[in-house]
Amino acid sequence: MSFSSDVKNEIANIEQTELAECCQKAEEYGLLLFGRSFAPSSISILTENAVVAQKYIAAVVRVTGKEPVYLCSKSGKHTVSVRDAQQKKSLLAEFGHDGREVGLRINYANFADDCCRAAFIRGVFLACGTVTSPEKEYHLEFSVPYINLSRDLVKIFDAFLDLAPKISERGGVQIVYFKDSSMIEDVLTLMGAGGASMELMNVKIYKEIRNNVNRKVNFESANIDRAVRAAYVQIQAIKKIEKRRGLQALPGELRELALLRLENPEMSLSELGRALREPASRSAVNHRLMKLIRMAEKL
Ligand SMILES: [Zn+2]
Repeated sequence: MSFSSDVKNEIANIEQTELAECCQKAEEYGLLLFGRSFAPSSISILTENAVVAQKYIAAVVRVTGKEPVYLCSKSGKHTVSVRDAQQKKSLLAEFGHDGREVGLRINYANFADDCCRAAFIRGVFLACGTVTSPEKEYHLEFSVPYINLSRDLVKIFDAFLDLAPKISERGGVQIVYFKDSSMIEDVLTLMGAGGASMELMNVKIYKEIRNNVNRKVNFESANIDRAVRAAYVQIQAIKKIEKRRGLQALPGELRELALLRLENPEMSLSELGRALREPASRSAVNHRLMKLIRMAEKL
C-alpha cells in the first residue's frame, strides 16, 4: 500500500465519536466540498480509496437520511454520487450553500471553532489529497478542481495554521502543495496522522545522518552502518524530546550533549566527549545518551 493510502486509512479511522460535533460537520464539509463536484447539477466524488467512499456515503446519509448511488469499477475506482434533486438541495443547504454562487467558495461559517479547521483539512485531504512516500521525495498536495476553492484553501493554511503552501496548475486542475518536510510533518499531525508524521520524521533523520556521515567520514561501510544506526537512534530520541517538550526542558549537560549530537551525527562518542565544554569520557557520553533515549521512550 502507498504512503498516501496509509495516511488516508489512518485519518479515516479516527473515531467519529471522539470528535466534537462541530468538528464532525467540518470534516464532512471538507470531504463533500473538495470532492469531484458540489453543485445543484452534481454532487459526487471519485476516489481510489474505499474508506473515503464509505465516509462520503456516511456523510450523505447523516445529512439527508438517504443513501447516495455507489459504483465501484473493476480497476478499483469508487464513485459516489447524489442523484436525487431534493437530496442535493438539502446537502448544499446543510453547509450554507444555496447553489446559486458563481464560483464555489469555502463557507467559513462552517467552522464553529479553531478545532474545526483541522477536521476540515482532514476532510479535504481525504477528498483530494495525496502524499508521496518520504523515502522518495517530500511532497504533499491537494488537487482542487475549482480555482476559488484552491485560493480559499491556501488562505486557511496561511492565515490560521501558519503554513505556507504553494499553488500551481496541472491539466486545468489547481494544485495546492507542500515541498517542505517540516510543513508536511505539521500538516500530517494537524490532520491526526500522528503515525505517518512520525514515520516521515524518522526517514528524514535517517537521510540526514546518512548524508552527513557519507560526506564527512571515510571508513569501512560496516563501521558506517554501525555508526549511522547508533546515531540514528540517539538523534531520533533527541528530536522526539525536542518536539514534545523542547530541549530547554533538559538539564544543562544533557542539553549541551543533545545539541552537539544533533549537529554532528558523524562524531564518535569519544569525539563528542572531547567537544563538550567540560570534556567527558566515552562512557560518560554513552551514559548520558542512554539517558536521553530512555527519556524519549517515556514520552
Ligand atoms: Zn470543532
